[in-house]
Amino acid sequence: MATLEIVTWPNPVLDNPGEHVTEFDDDLTKLVSDLFGTMYSAPGVGVAAVQVGVSTRLFVMDCSGGKDPAQRIALINPQVLRVEGTQNGEEGCLSFPGIFTPVERNLRAVVRDKDENHQYFEVDGMELTARCMLHETDHCDGIVFLDKMSPIKRELVKRKIKRLQKSGEWM
Ligand SMILES: [Zn+2]
Repeated sequence: MATLEIVTWPNPVLDNPGEHVTEFDDDLTKLVSDLFGTMYSAPGVGVAAVQVGVSTRLFVMDCSGGKDPAQRIALINPQVLRVEGTQNGEEGCLSFPGIFTPVERNLRAVVRDKDENHQYFEVDGMELTARCMLHETDHCDGIVFLDKMSPIKRELVKRKIKRLQKSGEWM
C-alpha cells in the first residue's frame, strides 16, 4: 500500500465527474490498495480516486479506522439506490484540510457497486457509514461538500480558504 498525494480544492479534478471503471485489472487493484494506504495514513474514513488526481468512479472507506475488517470497503462505480431520513453533523474532507462544518445528509443510504466479477452488491449504511458513502459518491460525481453547504456557510468557508491561501497555509 503506497501513500498517494491528496489534491486540495480548488483543483479542477475535484469538480469533474470521474470516468466509469471498465477495466478490472492489476492497475485497478493497485489503485484500490494505494487508496486504502492513503486513507489510513491521512487519516480519514474515506477517500475517492479523484482526490488523488485519478478521474475514475471509485472510492474506499473504513468508518472503523482500521479496527473492523468488515468496514473496509472499496466501491467501484458507486450508485446511490435509496436514501432515507436526514442527519446533521460535522463533516470534513481530506481535500479541505482543517475545514469541519455541519452538513445535512440522509440518515440511511443504500449504495450499489459493481465488483471485479461484474456482480452487483449493495452496501446499506446508517449514520456515519451513510454520510461517508454519500460524501464519497459525490466526489465520483464531481461534487464536493462545499456544494452541500448553505450559501452563507459556503461563503464563510471560501473566505477562510482564501485567507489560508494568502498566508501560504493552504497547499
Ligand atoms: Zn471528501
